[in-house]
Amino acid sequence: MKILVTNDDGIFAEGLWMLVEALRDMAQVAVVAPDREQSAIGTAVTLRQPLRVRKIKPPVPEVEAYSVEGTPADSVILALGKLIKDKIDMIVSGINQGPNLGDDVFISGTVSAALQGYLHGLPALAISATNADSLNLKEAAKFAVLMVKGISSNPLAADALLNVNLPGLPLAKVKGVKITTLASKSHTDTVEEGHDGKHAYYWLVRQKVNRGALKTTDIGAIEQGHISITPLHSNLKSKSSSSTIEDLCAKLLDDLRELANTKRRGI
Ligand code: MN
Repeated sequence: MKILVTNDDGIFAEGLWMLVEALRDMAQVAVVAPDREQSAIGTAVTLRQPLRVRKIKPPVPEVEAYSVEGTPADSVILALGKLIKDKIDMIVSGINQGPNLGDDVFISGTVSAALQGYLHGLPALAISATNADSLNLKEAAKFAVLMVKGISSNPLAADALLNVNLPGLPLAKVKGVKITTLASKSHTDTVEEGHDGKHAYYWLVRQKVNRGALKTTDIGAIEQGHISITPLHSNLKSKSSSSTIEDLCAKLLDDLRELANTKRRGI
């Protein structure tokens, strides 16, 4: 199996290489990602200027890696259309440093990179860690491996697009895995005003949303300490696909219990 890993935090982001390191034991991994942070760039593609690409020396050995002077969506389009010669079986975008929940999914570069995979007919995961610290990123990378294993043994529809968010908890402490819908809330709807002496200026501010999101939504699941998996394509709501995801969730729960037991036994 060959997995394309990308992100929106830039090719040198910690979360990306933790993901690569974790996946590389079970699959061939190629990396194509923006050369700099592109968070909140959404689905943007670059059509009015050329895209420069650089092959980089990866921090994880034996991984083919390219940085793209463009957006996350550009990176995936280039990877699939030109850079990676082998057949790609799955796209994993992340691990994003911070959540991608509710309405913010529509501005997320992480989700948009996965969306490009989906648009090319590939199973695609966007994975985000609510806490941007190394611990949470590493736990999310471990969970990504469980997901990829689960999906490869029990394939989802080829064009599945799943948005996955982890709460800021170690895997051994998460309450469960929930299939959710997007909450109608945004973390990025606050405007702050300042004045530089001549002109007013404005900041769009990211903040924690108020509590009280519905339990069935992604924000609700995270607030309650669950891992949230949101299928972002309407076909996935059809009965057969949804039960496949339910099976995957049940398996992931078993995996997490197993992990917790291993930890308790101090192995
Ligand atoms: Mn990001």
